Amino acid sequence: MSTHPPAALPAGLLQEPVQQAAGASCGDALPFTGIVDAHVHVFPPEIVCERAAYLKRDAWFRNLYSDPRARMASAEDVIREMDDCGVATSVVFGFPFADPGLCRLVNDYVIEAVRAHPGRLAGLACVAPDSREGVDEAERCLDAGLRGCGELVVRDGGLEGGWHDLAVFLAERDAPLLLHANEPVGHLYPGKGRFPVDMFAAFASAHPDLTLVLAHMGGRPSLL
Ligand SMILES: [Zn+2]
Repeated sequence: MSTHPPAALPAGLLQEPVQQAAGASCGDALPFTGIVDAHVHVFPPEIVCERAAYLKRDAWFRNLYSDPRARMASAEDVIREMDDCGVATSVVFGFPFADPGLCRLVNDYVIEAVRAHPGRLAGLACVAPDSREGVDEAERCLDAGLRGCGELVVRDGGLEGGWHDLAVFLAERDAPLLLHANEPVGHLYPGKGRFPVDMFAAFASAHPDLTLVLAHMGGRPSLL
């Protein structure tokens, strides 16, 4: 897990959702004192136990998790690791499956996890922006107490179409969007792809009110 000081968190994560589900505790303000891990994937037990079946269902998931050494953690695993390492709070999310049904599966798990661990976990939603359900699923998850969307991956169609609808929605809700990116230099590794800086820059320029976080982006200061 990577760690960041609280000041590195996007503002939207520190705010209560505009509309909080009745009785939900996951949208409560978090203390954010101490170490915050801003990027943690969690998986429901059915995906951890049946990894091989899910590898067949999503090319991007296969790319990252075909190697059995690629560990998958449940929310309980993460809480245990946080306690061992002295991490106060983690921002957790599932996996950006292309299938909206699989997104709902991981989102339901994240919603449960943040409700089970108020004050320790803040959650983001995974949605398929290219599907007609992308914004609807984001709205469902924010209403249930999640703080934004992420970590999403840009597939072959680029940051077009439904991505703009999602950006407008998240900006209106003052909620961040966390995107998978990577440095354009250095060695190849699972998850590294062609994510042109120009594409992200154009998207950010089109949505100046959106809090956009580019995970793993780096490599050359002149790019930023
Ligand atoms: Zn990630």
